Order: sequence, then C-alpha cells, then structure tokens
Amino acid sequence: LFARPWDFVTSIADMRQLPASDGLEIALAGRSNVGKSSLINALTGRRDLARTSNTPGRTQMLNFFTAPESGLTLVDMPGYGYAEAPKAMVDTWTALVFSYLRGRPNLRRVFLLIDSRHGIKANDLETMQLLDKAAVVYQVVLTKADKIKTGQMSRLLDATAEILRKRPAAYPMIIETSSEKGLGLDVLRAEIANLV
Ligand code: GDP
Repeated sequence: LFARPWDFVTSIADMRQLPASDGLEIALAGRSNVGKSSLINALTGRRDLARTSNTPGRTQMLNFFTAPESGLTLVDMPGYGYAEAPKAMVDTWTALVFSYLRGRPNLRRVFLLIDSRHGIKANDLETMQLLDKAAVVYQVVLTKADKIKTGQMSRLLDATAEILRKRPAAYPMIIETSSEKGLGLDVLRAEIANLV
C-alpha cells in the first residue's frame, strides 16, 4: 500500500465536485498546524503531496490522494481552528465537512490528528461532535510526539482515552506519531492497511 508513491486525484470545495466513490476512503482531519501535511507526506513517501502550508485562511478544500492500484483513497480535510477565522469561514468549513461525512458511504475512518503539546481542544471536541453525529468512526493520532517527554505523553494518553471513552463513534486505540522522527508511522500504516 505504501511501497509506491501516491498520486494526487483532485481538490474540491463543493460537494458537487466529489469524485466517484469507488474503493475505500480514509480521511485525516485536525487543527491547522497540527502537522497534517507533514504526516501525509511522511506516510506516503511523497515530499510535497500535501503542501505544508503556512497560509491559514486559504480556500478550504478536500484534497484526494490515491495509492496506485489499491482501491484506497486518502482525503486531506481542511484544517480548522485558526485563531482569527471569521464565523462565515467556520460555517463554510462545517457545512462542507459535514456534508462530506454524511454523504460518503465508502468513508471507512477519519484519523483525527491532535498535537501532542496541546491535547484535545474545544474545536477538536466540536469536530468530534460532527463525527459522532455523522456516525463516522474516528481514531486519534497524536502528532509531534518528539516534542514532549515520556511522562507528559503518558498523562496525555490517559487524558485523551478518558475523553474518547464518552464519545460514541470514537475508536479507542490512540496512535502516537512523529513525522520528524518517523515514529509510529508503521503503526498508522498498518492500521490503514487493516481497513482495506
Ligand atoms: P498542517 O497545517 O497541519 O498541515 O501542519 P504542517 O504539516 O504544515 O506542520 C506544521 C508545523 O509543525 C511545521 O512547522 C512542521 O515542521 C511542524 N511539524 C510537523 N510534524 C512535526 C513533528 O513530527 N515533529 C516536530 N517537532 N514538528 C513537526
């Protein structure tokens, strides 16, 4: 699945542009700057597949990638939680994401990225609420694990597990990753491969 470089399929800002839903789909979501682009690039072995973006507020798009001949599509969901996002932008994000979550029968799981330094924030909880409402299974992936110490990580894992226990669509296993150090990528790849 990850042995060969992935291909870019399309970017959409409107549900009418959705590509055909053949094969399974998984999606990655998270706050802006959580390390989503870095993780997608590390996972797929393509350096600039998902552009690491320093431009918050750009057009919010769902980006589709595929592994050649695998029947698997990976969807990069637009980042959320910009400090100064106007309400209209948040509403647009919510509408696009929710209609995608609700209208995608082949969407198997959403990996919800959480920055290890910050843990789950209010807007992550709002995203979890959307996922619970859409009944799409989501799994937490902690990013930038290299940034915190072992003791902090074990407290973070406990606190995160406690939150997930109360969420109907949350998958209990938490994955720790660092794109920078290559940590946990094999675990995440195996988790994805298991879904196919
Ligand atoms: P995105 O906005 O979610 O796509 O986040 P990016 O992938 O652009 O990353 C945001 C910032 O976090 C960049 O400065 C990255 O270099 C940094 N970053 C991403 N992953 C890691 C990681 O695993 N470890 C560390 N230390 N920094 C990371």
